Amino acid sequence: MELRLCHLYPEVLNLYGDRGNILCMEERLRRRGIGVTTTPLRIGERTALDRFDLFFIGGGQDFEQEVLLADLASGKGQEIRAAVEDGKTFLAICGGYQMMGHYYETREGVRCDFLGAVNFHTVGADRRMIDNYAFRLSEESGGSVVVGFENHSGRTYLGEGVRPLGTVLKGCGNNGEDGTEGCRSRNVFGTYSHGPVLPKNPELCDAILSSALERKYGRAELEPLDDRFERLAHDSVLAKIMNGDI
Ligand code: GLN
Repeated sequence: MELRLCHLYPEVLNLYGDRGNILCMEERLRRRGIGVTTTPLRIGERTALDRFDLFFIGGGQDFEQEVLLADLASGKGQEIRAAVEDGKTFLAICGGYQMMGHYYETREGVRCDFLGAVNFHTVGADRRMIDNYAFRLSEESGGSVVVGFENHSGRTYLGEGVRPLGTVLKGCGNNGEDGTEGCRSRNVFGTYSHGPVLPKNPELCDAILSSALERKYGRAELEPLDDRFERLAHDSVLAKIMNGDI
């Protein structure tokens, strides 16, 4: 078995070490004897996207998101939408998550028309939502509690037919109003959780890998790994977040 990963726009969408998520996915596959290759795809570069199984898009500031618009419009956006419709797995974070929706209207009123691959939109607000936070994944994504860090001004509102990735336990999530965090639509996992969210949340990592393996091979029995240190890190951070210590 093998998964082919594509890292979209690594040169512009990579805040707070979002790339650590790729390292984590690669490592958890390798430890199970599953092959993995990762191909970066930058602005101006083109290749057939249908050869990939799993796509990763990190976060970026408003400016970087605006820079990408021309590249998406050059045909890559159409291919990304086709991959979503084909059931390919995506992990999209913050600015990359916003990119999967219909549009992002910045605080200054600049409207970025995005992919519309998933039915939601985002509107910039004056108050930034910045903090460590925690949310519970919905059952379809494993049901565990995720600890993370959010930093966004955009408020995301999910449209009809799009389920949240989880429910906020502490922090803001999608918009600070309705208690939802991220999105789960087909095999798209969208989240505001920045930086390397996967190493300290191995269940989320495995849910993402399982969806890609299932799509490709029709089955995904992931052998359990020794996650003792990951769990200790997760549990100690969760306790601090819930206590309001960090
Ligand atoms: N520019 C977006 C916002 O502020 C995304 C920011 C980010 O990816 N950190 O909402």
